[in-house]
Amino acid sequence: MRFSTFLLKYGEIGIKGKNRYLFEDALVRRVRHALSGADGSFRVYKSQARVYVDCEGEYDYEEVTERLKRVFGLVGICPVVRLMDRGFEELKKDAVTYMDETYPDKKLTFKVETRRAKKTYPMNSMEISRDLGEAILHAFPDIRVDVHHPDVMLNVEVRTDGIYLYSRVIPGAGGMPVGTSGTAMLLLSGGIDSPVAGYMIAKRGVEIEAVYFHAPPYTSERAKQKVVDLAQIVSRYAGKIKLHVVNFTDIQLYIYDQCPHDELTIIMRRYMMRIAEHFARKDGCLGLITGESIAQVASQTMQSLAATDDVCQMPVYRPLIGFDKRDIVSLAEEIGTFETSIQPFEDCCTIFVAKHPVTKPKVDVIRHSEEKLAERIDELVKTAVETAEVIRIGE
Ligand code: ATP
Ligand code: MG
Repeated sequence: MRFSTFLLKYGEIGIKGKNRYLFEDALVRRVRHALSGADGSFRVYKSQARVYVDCEGEYDYEEVTERLKRVFGLVGICPVVRLMDRGFEELKKDAVTYMDETYPDKKLTFKVETRRAKKTYPMNSMEISRDLGEAILHAFPDIRVDVHHPDVMLNVEVRTDGIYLYSRVIPGAGGMPVGTSGTAMLLLSGGIDSPVAGYMIAKRGVEIEAVYFHAPPYTSERAKQKVVDLAQIVSRYAGKIKLHVVNFTDIQLYIYDQCPHDELTIIMRRYMMRIAEHFARKDGCLGLITGESIAQVASQTMQSLAATDDVCQMPVYRPLIGFDKRDIVSLAEEIGTFETSIQPFEDCCTIFVAKHPVTKPKVDVIRHSEEKLAERIDELVKTAVETAEVIRIGE
């Protein structure tokens, strides 16, 4: 027997009341987008508070389930055998074959549960469940019924377009469908943390844009390519990502020339935030996202974070704020960004880091240092913004 449909279960979006259809429609769009690159032809639709994918013709089961597992908003993915209604005797045989093929080891307990959407079917749900259960018990001596905690729940749906059998539930990614919570601007470096931060915010339904600051020739083309590769991996979950690549070299050199070296990182980070916010505002984003976590490095002490926030009008979302590095690493491994993140290409901060950076910067001291940039900084920022390259990922 072959799985020709997937029944998709969603969690939190079920509780959204009158707006539920908006979430369901977004989910349908996300599922369509996720399957658009897969071999085969798929019909994605909602019906009776569920979302279905009908696979028409040949398709790769592994590929399709892998893609569905990355769609935020889904809690369960049920592969369904779709049958023509050829009478109840045939259905009994089919249910037995289904159990036989799906569970080679029959030392298990089961229960049959029927939903009858087609009210003209000659038997009611109770009768269908009971008689199919009996046929399965009869076919396999080792199998037992357990109505309270069955190992296998065989679901039977009698629908106008046929009969659906399913029992397996593949865990989904959870979260909310991307596109239901607005857009935010991710500061994406080539490190381990920021791709994970983007993933976490996208999981809450937020569409992601990204900005990367590179400093050629101090950072190489390979370092930039690594960021593009990371954006590509994040986009498997988050959907399309508009990536802005900003040439930061002249700004960095100017800060290096004019400001105290122990404050370089903080001042650079403030300019990154300002420029990120410029693009965010222009594209209607509702916030910025970074991969910072308290005390991870000198520029992420509470004082440093406050000095960075000082230049932001928009909320800055830092989903990793309370995470230890090893927790971030396990998430990076899980979502598939880790291997790319640890490739040894320098990112722009490592070139200009001071030996002893301030760990407790005072906002007014930093502001004062920035006054030394008055002569040229506006013009340099303007040029950086105007010459930024836009790379569209995952379209
Ligand atoms: P990551 O592993 O994400 O690079 P990190 O531990 O190296 O983080 P920092 O270099 O202090 O930390 O950067 C903190 C945050 O600032 C990053 O998570 C990222 O959001 C942003 N950031 C740092 N460098 C860049 C860059 N070159 N381009 C864009 N964003 C950056
Ligand atoms: Mg970094």
